[in-house]
Amino acid sequence: MIPPKFDYHRPTSVQEAVQLLQSSPEAKVLAGGHSLIPLMKLRLAAPAAVIDIGRIPDLRGIQALDSGELRIGACTTHHEIATSQAVQRAAPLLAEAAAQIGDRQVRYRGTIGGNLAHADPASDLPAVVVALNATLQAEGPQGSRSIPAAEFFVDLMTTTLQPGEILTQIRVPALGQGTGSCYLKFEHPASGYALCGAAAIVSLNPDGSCAQARLCFNGVSARPVDAAAVAQALVGSDLSDGAIDAAVEDHLRVPDPVGDIHASASYRQELAKALGKRALKAARDRARG
Ligand SMILES: Cc1cc2nc3c(=O)[nH]c(=O)nc-3n(C[C@H](O)[C@H](O)[C@H](O)COP(=O)(O)OP(=O)(O)OC[C@H]3O[C@@H](n4cnc5c(N)ncnc54)[C@H](O)[C@@H]3O)c2cc1C
Repeated sequence: MIPPKFDYHRPTSVQEAVQLLQSSPEAKVLAGGHSLIPLMKLRLAAPAAVIDIGRIPDLRGIQALDSGELRIGACTTHHEIATSQAVQRAAPLLAEAAAQIGDRQVRYRGTIGGNLAHADPASDLPAVVVALNATLQAEGPQGSRSIPAAEFFVDLMTTTLQPGEILTQIRVPALGQGTGSCYLKFEHPASGYALCGAAAIVSLNPDGSCAQARLCFNGVSARPVDAAAVAQALVGSDLSDGAIDAAVEDHLRVPDPVGDIHASASYRQELAKALGKRALKAARDRARG
């Protein structure tokens, strides 16, 4: 199928894009087009206009700021993130996840902003930005605002972005010394999307015990799952395999687990347990060097 007719705009600044969105409320923003265009071809989306933000220079690129944070433009592609030395140094979890998205073609076109704004539960980056305590910057008719990643995802394909708002950048704090991370996914063999993805971060105290941990999941619920109780149970532990297994077995709860034709809810819960343990152990090993 081909999409219904639509107007096409290619703004050269964020301000112009926001103005265009205001004057055409039925419009949709287009970034890499790897989710929007298929929806339009299937006629599941039929925007009156498409506002192509893919060539706005301010929305592209990766900067390591003096504060240690990474500033990533919303239209930066998965390939650029996966291969960026700055990201590999400061937030290797993000680079590792971006490298596992789809195939080369998808990674060259798909963008981090599109991935997060689309809020597909099976996408790889939502749980990763939650685990990293990233902040998302949005620009709209009322100006700009910062949204903690943990508050951005509301429900299936629903975020806190308001009508007329564009995601402009993602700020990612650098992981400190003595910290290891790991992203693992069990993917659907045909699409590459996650039936379950696990993002783990572990920080060590000087004596090797756990100072801090994070464990978040994609694919198992309508929005990313932050397994904070598992992480809390690990703090102060010796991070032995037994301690990790027990923390996951005793404390992992998946709220409203998703079941569909690809995998039942209980299967996904078991995947979360298995991948959560493996990701935490790999993060621990990397933290130990
Ligand atoms: C075959 C295939 C396999 C894939 N496999 C994976 C996978 O394994 N893992 C994974 O995570 N993803 C996967 N994807 C998704 C892909 O990686 C993209 O992340 C995704 O398509 C969205 O990014 P995009 O730049 O293409 O956004 P678009 O398709 O351009 O836009 C998607 C939605 O987000 C909105 N939007 C885009 N950018 C912004 C912005 N800056 N501000 C506000 N709204 C915005 C659009 O209006 C639209 O509603 C796959 C896609 C395909 C086609």
